[in-house]
Amino acid sequence: MLKLYNSLTNTKVELKPINANRVTIYSCGPTVYDHVHVGNLRAFLLPDLLQRVIRHVEQHDVEWVMNITDIDDKMIAKSKQIYPDDEPMTALGRLADKYTDLFTEDIEKVGVKRGDISHLPRATDFIDSMQKIILDLIEQGIAYISSGSVYFSIKNYQATGKTYGRLVNLDFTAKPRVTDDQDQKIGVADFVLWKASKPGEPQWDFKIGTSLYPGRPGWHIECSAMSGELLANNFDIHTGGVDLKFPHHENELAQCGGKQANIYMHNEHLSLGSTKMSKSLGNTMVMDDINHPMAYRYLVMSAHYRTRMDLDIEDINSAHERVKSLRVYVDNLMLARAGQLSEMDKTGSVDKFLEEFNSALRDDLNTPRALAALKIIEGKIYTLDAREAMRLVDDVFGLQLVFDDPLHDTILELIDNYDSARKDKNFALSDSIRKHLTDNFSLILSDTPIGSLVSRA
Ligand code: AMP
Ligand code: ZN
Repeated sequence: MLKLYNSLTNTKVELKPINANRVTIYSCGPTVYDHVHVGNLRAFLLPDLLQRVIRHVEQHDVEWVMNITDIDDKMIAKSKQIYPDDEPMTALGRLADKYTDLFTEDIEKVGVKRGDISHLPRATDFIDSMQKIILDLIEQGIAYISSGSVYFSIKNYQATGKTYGRLVNLDFTAKPRVTDDQDQKIGVADFVLWKASKPGEPQWDFKIGTSLYPGRPGWHIECSAMSGELLANNFDIHTGGVDLKFPHHENELAQCGGKQANIYMHNEHLSLGSTKMSKSLGNTMVMDDINHPMAYRYLVMSAHYRTRMDLDIEDINSAHERVKSLRVYVDNLMLARAGQLSEMDKTGSVDKFLEEFNSALRDDLNTPRALAALKIIEGKIYTLDAREAMRLVDDVFGLQLVFDDPLHDTILELIDNYDSARKDKNFALSDSIRKHLTDNFSLILSDTPIGSLVSRA
């Protein structure tokens, strides 16, 4: 049974899928105004790992939604800056197209399979749905209109008997009216649902009663609308970085009337030079700055998602070496011949490994422990079940360890010929086969007590 740390209760809870055998996940996705940085990528690798564990360890289907935020202040500013001659809405769409494509390229580079994401909805395709939620909140007296914008009233929400602030320990009793002229809120913690339009900005019509309120959505309502349309706001797990706990997730939850997901999971930040990696602080690195995407993925997985992680380029290099040595073991296993495989694991090591591996992951995705368990079999056990075990490791960690070569059978035949030539002491032939394997298939043969083991160069 998979246990996950739930930020709503601050406890580890068992995952009990709402729909039998199909787990539903919603992840807050990127704002597509620029490249995502590798800190953001940590927040997307958490749900990727989660859905892989649910599929391959728990054997459940997964429906995974990750949204694209394609409207907010940063999107508007950047779209004006790079497409100054376009209409605001056209410029916004072009910017979103460009960085959504780059985002999917980046996540694929770090091993997220696009096909594993069931839906990648864009906020601006859900404006109707946002407006419906807002109208409903106005009708309930929870939202109010002020200077052409619509706000969510924390006080009125609390008056309906609902709790605000379950994800954080803050006091949200109503405070006096704020006089800041940009912010026409009544309570300080009130947040905007719909922002009155400003000249030259993209805007949508919004009819409330008999009046029109042209404007654009606030950020929080976007996710409540998308998770509502796609997962009926009754889903298993919501993910995001710790900075999204408050106000973003708290507000999403309140907009949904206090019921949205059963479990909220938050990854700790990735930092650089001990400071949170953040665009506003200017200490970011993007995927193109990292030479070895799989080493980055390994590094992220080697820290538990709820611990802060400081990125060090030296660590990327050592993670790269680690991934390479894992690949050698997996190649050795996958290219071992029948005679070699049958000799081994009389020790039950693979079972012991699987028990530790699965139990580590079921304990709130304890990836460092699961990776440490590899030492039980790595470089020691060469059996058919070790092959299966390493396929599982690859399915879960997504490190692209298993290389399914279409010429697998041809290669095996050549290795067999190599082994026979050596047995017959025909070293001229064995050397030429070895050279052929290296030159044409980039394979390296090592002669060991259990015969020749083969790996990719
Ligand atoms: P944003 O585009 O800023 O909304 O961020 C997208 C996701 O990245 C959110 O889940 C954030 O919480 C997460 N995030 C932002 N900065 C970091 C960081 N330095 N480390 C880990 N996650 C981050
Ligand atoms: Zn969100």
